[in-house]
Amino acid sequence: MKYDYLIVGAGFAGSVMAERIASQLNKKIMIVEKRYHIGGNAFDEFDEHGILVHRYGPHIFHTNSKKVFDYLSQFTEWRFYEHKVLAKLNGELYPIPINRITLNKLYGLELKSEADVKNYLETVRQNHFPVLNSEDIIVNQVGNDLFEKFFKHYTKKQWNLEPKELSPQVCGRIPVRFNDDCRYFTDKYQYMPKDGYTKMFERMLLSKNIEIVLNQDYKTILNEVKYDKMIYTGPIDYFFDYEFGKLPYRSIRFEFENIKSEWVQKVAQINNVSSEVEFTRMIEHKYLTGQQADTTTISKEYPQNDGEPFYPIPTEENRHLYLKYEVEAKKLKNVVFCGRLAEYQYFNMDQIMANTLSIFKNIIANGN
Ligand code: FAD
Ligand code: UDP
Repeated sequence: MKYDYLIVGAGFAGSVMAERIASQLNKKIMIVEKRYHIGGNAFDEFDEHGILVHRYGPHIFHTNSKKVFDYLSQFTEWRFYEHKVLAKLNGELYPIPINRITLNKLYGLELKSEADVKNYLETVRQNHFPVLNSEDIIVNQVGNDLFEKFFKHYTKKQWNLEPKELSPQVCGRIPVRFNDDCRYFTDKYQYMPKDGYTKMFERMLLSKNIEIVLNQDYKTILNEVKYDKMIYTGPIDYFFDYEFGKLPYRSIRFEFENIKSEWVQKVAQINNVSSEVEFTRMIEHKYLTGQQADTTTISKEYPQNDGEPFYPIPTEENRHLYLKYEVEAKKLKNVVFCGRLAEYQYFNMDQIMANTLSIFKNIIANGN
């Protein structure tokens, strides 16, 4: 059997690409995935206590793109869900992103309006220009004390780097609010797939044109499979056998625990922003999935270097190394590099989808 496309990886990038090529171009595809399941990092499954869990950390779908939302709506119904996070500091819980409530509680202030909050922050914020790193972007908005309390230690634990060493893009993901809005995201569309992500992926990949091979590293089957083109969504350095050296990716060890109580947290996610507690965040999965059950499952996240490559690490040095690989990648006419690992970019799911849909358009424009 000869395939038109070999797609490496069954995460968002690989699955969206497979779905488009199968349904729009009617071409034959083999997807090869090294893990035991489809869905990539968005994979969810029932644990042994019957609780639906996000195996690789909380995946909250949020987007301002109607195009992305409409695209995914073909494969799932939705449940409205707005994510909330509390930061734990010295035993107290504070809204994060920092907002009016955070400031009043932390400093015993009585800021009453958005103007009060703006005026207060004006007295503490700093002026680091140009904005070169993740420390600059935060101290410019909220000053040093709030940076130290909410960002410095959490970031060090998450990345094993100082915020000064990371691109502004990392801590810049977190806004600062002048009002009482405690939502983590403010995007127009904030929904979770009603039956979970894995079910949504199953529907996307249900096609006579798509064959899925699980538990296989693509390199082990390359000699046996005939194909015209490859879509590669794995780590780009691995593709080139680390020719220029390893690109660092950050991983996480997830510690799951089922607790015989209906709920344990007030919200889905609690961030331990101090250095004393080793894990970064604790997630209570039923908030994410909307499941009703007598017990609850939580997971704690311990960042580490070894393990599945979850996060590209946005530093100047890594960017330069990536660009060397990108030059090589562009020379290969029958391989398309696509996704968070292959493009070494800290993309959210909706960005991956928008990006993959646009790469698909290029594939059509270039005559498949
Ligand atoms: P992946 O999901 O990593 O898929 C790549 C696939 O390729 C994997 O399944 C991998 O096993 C496979 N693969 C790799 N190498 C090989 C090989 N050699 N052979 C065969 N297969 C291979 N985004 C959001 O929008 N909202 C969130 O709340 C959110 N939370 C996140 C929380 C965590 C802890 C993490 C790590 C990410 C989160 N994301 C979130 C980002 C989201 O996971 C990514 O945007 C998305 O999964 C990227 O899709 P992808 O297909 O590029 O990569
Ligand atoms: N961050 C922080 N304190 C927080 C939340 C986030 O310092 O309470 C920083 C940290 O460096 C983190 C980054 O902001 O890696 C982005 O946070 P986000 O919640 O978007 O991380 P993700 O969900 O992608 O892991």
